[in-house]
Amino acid sequence: MTDLLITAGSVYGPDGPVDADVQVTDGVISRVEAGLAAPRGATVIDARGMYVMPGAIDVHVHSRDPGFPEKEDFGTLTAAAAMGGVTTVLDMPNTVPAVDSAGVLESKAALARPKARVDFGLWGLVRSSSTEDQLEALAAAGAVGFKAYLGYSFSTRRKQVLQSADTDDPELEAPPDYGTLARLAPPIARLGLPLAIHAEDPAILSAFRRPLETYADLLEARPAEAEAVAISAAAEIARECGVNLHVAHLSSALGLRVAQDAMRTGTNLTLETCPQYLWLSDQDFARLGTAMKVFPPIRTAADRDALVEAAAGGVIRIVATDHAPHTDEEKARPFEQAPSGSPGVQQLYLSCLALASRLGDISLAPRWVSEGPAALARLHQTKGAIAPGFDADLVIVDPNRTTLIRPAMMRSRQRRGAFDGTDFRFGIRDVFLRGRAIVRDGKLAGRASGRMVRPAR
Ligand SMILES: [Zn+2]
Repeated sequence: MTDLLITAGSVYGPDGPVDADVQVTDGVISRVEAGLAAPRGATVIDARGMYVMPGAIDVHVHSRDPGFPEKEDFGTLTAAAAMGGVTTVLDMPNTVPAVDSAGVLESKAALARPKARVDFGLWGLVRSSSTEDQLEALAAAGAVGFKAYLGYSFSTRRKQVLQSADTDDPELEAPPDYGTLARLAPPIARLGLPLAIHAEDPAILSAFRRPLETYADLLEARPAEAEAVAISAAAEIARECGVNLHVAHLSSALGLRVAQDAMRTGTNLTLETCPQYLWLSDQDFARLGTAMKVFPPIRTAADRDALVEAAAGGVIRIVATDHAPHTDEEKARPFEQAPSGSPGVQQLYLSCLALASRLGDISLAPRWVSEGPAALARLHQTKGAIAPGFDADLVIVDPNRTTLIRPAMMRSRQRRGAFDGTDFRFGIRDVFLRGRAIVRDGKLAGRASGRMVRPAR
């Protein structure tokens, strides 16, 4: 049965924009053509003057659920995602308990499902003690890929990934290192899933550790060399076995150069950067303060410009958010004590549309947030494009409305963020998840109907 007909919009299909109607049958796109007649009983949405775009897939979010309900949960995360036109989120495994086994993944999926307003996928965790069997079981349970946090140790007592290794926890497991990657990359390659890394070399970070009084201290404590060395070493390991090495949150021109060298010599490497690295620089700290404290840090204008150029040129194919909320109280602490991380999922599409528009090619936005991510997560047969046979995850963008980001409109628990006060020159009008409205006229609609996605094997 035809559920929905979206008429007369500018439809961003795989080959660029066309004026067309989009017909949806049983939650799946059935036709994309001009002049379709409305079938009986179908809801008709007039999209004249609007852009019709594929729903975004944010491959890098932190739901904090289970573990830190005061910071975020699947309900608040996916409400924010829906409002921003993100119809699928891929949640990182450093929730508590960390997702290091099939059993934990399954219980996390069961907890997420009733709260999820958008579809979700779950990353599995690589620990230094992880075995091939554990990774195989995680893949069988539906993990979208594996994440290794270089330099982040693991508390076996608290079942938690720890950002800082110098703790007096007696049951601390060593962080995953290049040995871990070399040992586990071949089985991950055989599973056909990506291996994502938090790319900051721990030895370089430890050599440059210092008190953080100013923003310049943070840049000196976490230099671009740390990112470049981690990418370079991991890429050498990945080239041998052909695994898809995925660099999360690329932040520096130096890291980009090293990644490009590796790609030229045949490494199966994908790059992800985030709106905060494409929009902001160290110059914004005076205005934003701890709201822009993230790891790796937001660097110089030259780094930002290099990343924008690489995204415009298709070297970076994925823009994700590293959505990592804390409470507003935690972020209001002094610079050194304030936790790193910032919410972002609600602004992902808007910020990419505004940047794409500035670069003179709107179709870059759906490529960065939908097509590239679908390929990474092996969801490219069902999501990431507006074409017959794909899930009807659709966003209607109003190019005549602007959106001024204010804390009061944020659906995440952390309401203050790095984009407060930014005026994006687009609006998200309606959002559909598998043909069902989850946002109408800029307001949440319907109930939580998200499902877990699994990569094609
Ligand atoms: Zn992250």
